[in-house]
Amino acid sequence: MHPLLEEVHELLRRSTVEFAEARIEPSARDIEVKGEYPRGLLRELGKLGLLAPMAPPEYGGGGLDFRGEVIVIEEVAKHSPTLATVMEVQGALIIDSLLKHASGVVKERFLEGLVKGELIASFALTEPCCGSDAGAIETQATDRGGEWVINGRKTWVTSGQYADLYLVFARTGGIEERHRGITAFLVPRGSCVEVNHLEAMGIRGGGTAEVAFRDCSVPDEYRIGEVNRGFYLAMEELNLGRTCVGAIGLGIAERALTEAYNYAHGRRIYGGLLAQLGVIQNYLAQMYAQVEALRSLLYTTALMRDRGLGEFTKYAQVVKFIGTSTAVNVTKLAIQVMGAVGLSTETPLEYLYRDAKVTEVYEGANEVVLYSLFKMMGK
Ligand SMILES: Cc1cc2nc3c(=O)[nH]c(=O)nc-3n(C[C@H](O)[C@H](O)[C@H](O)COP(=O)(O)OP(=O)(O)OC[C@H]3O[C@@H](n4cnc5c(N)ncnc54)[C@H](O)[C@@H]3O)c2cc1C
Repeated sequence: MHPLLEEVHELLRRSTVEFAEARIEPSARDIEVKGEYPRGLLRELGKLGLLAPMAPPEYGGGGLDFRGEVIVIEEVAKHSPTLATVMEVQGALIIDSLLKHASGVVKERFLEGLVKGELIASFALTEPCCGSDAGAIETQATDRGGEWVINGRKTWVTSGQYADLYLVFARTGGIEERHRGITAFLVPRGSCVEVNHLEAMGIRGGGTAEVAFRDCSVPDEYRIGEVNRGFYLAMEELNLGRTCVGAIGLGIAERALTEAYNYAHGRRIYGGLLAQLGVIQNYLAQMYAQVEALRSLLYTTALMRDRGLGEFTKYAQVVKFIGTSTAVNVTKLAIQVMGAVGLSTETPLEYLYRDAKVTEVYEGANEVVLYSLFKMMGK
């Protein structure tokens, strides 16, 4: 057991591994090829308390800490980084936001359904206008006395295609107020929501979509957090999200290393094994070193959150950057070790490599993550 984990985390890991091998692995290639995930899988994960390990048991969650969450995400990502992405958006970004900031009405109506995977929710921040410059979003929320009317267009929304609920970040102050004029709202899917599927090179089955909101009316109880505090809420949740993306990076890198190591010990070449070549040994050892460094960084980051340490905010940026770069480096080396077989669809490596590349861009492109980290340095 890793020294930063406890028995409860290893028990959780064992049940996640069991579920992932039996239920996720058989669908993993299909999720990638068909570009969609089976909704039933989320319900199964929900029933086992794996969709929201941190949610309190009264809502059907596991009542665990953040290390529990990252372990589940790591194990699922070994099979399907796409499903791990969908899970961390729902389990960390959405459910955590609602637990902390939603009204009693929202909690009562939606939390249990989300925790159990009966409802799907999306985190809708990015807009075509401004991507990384989230302080410049244009989606508008107009106060009509007791209700809000939302108009605008979000893009690259994970699960956007399937969502029953959208956590929408909208402008409630002037454009010049930038991040100080944004509020979060929970918008149920209805006829005012129009969805268009988007295709990307990786994370292909996540139901990623452009979502337009046209005169969507929600009661004030569906406002999440205080007026004009939505940007801060998003950034707070993205610290959890970025750590989970580090966990996805670890899962991808571990799976790539296992595939390459096993292949090198089975492939006969020059009358011996591929693993007897010095350069292959060097590649495998480099991959191992990167995986183990990332593992310690990830569990340290999650432990900081569990202990309420302020350093967590910095480490969330570090683990997003290191986790996603490691995933790209290790999958690239694994493909090199396996040659043409690594490029073929016989193994998961080719999609793990494409998925790894996407992790460097979403939940804050790595350049933006490093810029945030730079501003925190010395504080
Ligand atoms: C598969 C997938 C799923 C996604 N899911 C979601 C989701 O669920 N919800 C959601 O809201 N968004 C989601 N996104 C959007 C994602 O978060 C954005 O793509 C990301 O924030 C970058 O924005 P952009 O693509 O518009 O790039 P841009 O902001 O246009 O950036 C282009 C390039 O400029 C660089 N750059 C930008 N700003 C700076 C800076 N200040 N300093 C240095 N370099 C900079 C970027 O790093 C990038 O390399 C998803 C994206 C993908 C691909």
